[in-house]
Amino acid sequence: MADYEAFDDRFWSLVIGSAAIEQLWSGGRWVEGPVYVPAAKAVVWSDIPEDRLMRYDETSGAVSVFEHPCGYHNGHALDAFGRIVACEHGGRRISRLGFDGRWQTIVDRFEGKRLNSPNDVVVKSDGSIWFSDPSYGIDSDYEGHAAESEIGACHVYRHDPESGETTAVITSLSRPNGLAFSPDERILYVSDTGATHVSGHPRAIHAFDMTADGRAVAGAGRPFATADADLFDGFRVDTAGNIWTSCGDGVRIYAADGTLLGRINIPGPVSNLCFGGAKRNRLYITAKWSLYAVYVHATPAGWARSSAWQGAA
Ligand code: MG
Repeated sequence: MADYEAFDDRFWSLVIGSAAIEQLWSGGRWVEGPVYVPAAKAVVWSDIPEDRLMRYDETSGAVSVFEHPCGYHNGHALDAFGRIVACEHGGRRISRLGFDGRWQTIVDRFEGKRLNSPNDVVVKSDGSIWFSDPSYGIDSDYEGHAAESEIGACHVYRHDPESGETTAVITSLSRPNGLAFSPDERILYVSDTGATHVSGHPRAIHAFDMTADGRAVAGAGRPFATADADLFDGFRVDTAGNIWTSCGDGVRIYAADGTLLGRINIPGPVSNLCFGGAKRNRLYITAKWSLYAVYVHATPAGWARSSAWQGAA
């Protein structure tokens, strides 16, 4: 199978046809949650059932264990200070790796009840933390600790670090999973992997318009893309608003208008991805039990903003 498959000619302006897809590491059990840590020149990702975090050193190419045990981490994001924000299935919390090297709890309850098992997270430019909370980490002991849901539902939440307030912003999805904002942060995209629990459930990424104040979504949202191969899990958005998403058949790229532009074929179901490297043009991909990388002609939304912020500091 070819490495690249185009369904729309715009695809060829986003990938580099001569760039090889590299398998950087294999040996995990179910890998997820890659995050690029610029100050460490490293990618950190989760191997959820093994309860460990792994690290790829971009300079030496070495892969090592970053932390074990770790609380069955899943998704990660960076905040404006470059700190890792984590979703913990085992800890049933959103945590953050402080400058002192300790994980601090950011949020672990909603209305007094424990979260299910936060899955994926994004930090908005105003510092608010948006995360999904499906049940995968409490469904069994495989990816966390089996338990009943205290909340009894799977929501998307917004946490305001200044006020400490946590709000349920999307309550209409079955198993909200990956999430990301459009470059102008006026649309929130969320995948729903409810088909793991409900036969025939739509395998979709949904698009939600944001309210004018950027603190909530307006309306019920609309289907943005539908997967005909397995599921959409984690995804990222580039500076032009294209969605680079995991899927059962590789990495799919959708234009902001919903057109499927093409696919980068990766063996094994892809769980998530992130942009990294000095120019942020290297796509790191977690798929089943392996980490892959490929150079592309795109950079992540928000990178210019974080660069400007760092320059002003
Ligand atoms: Mg996920």
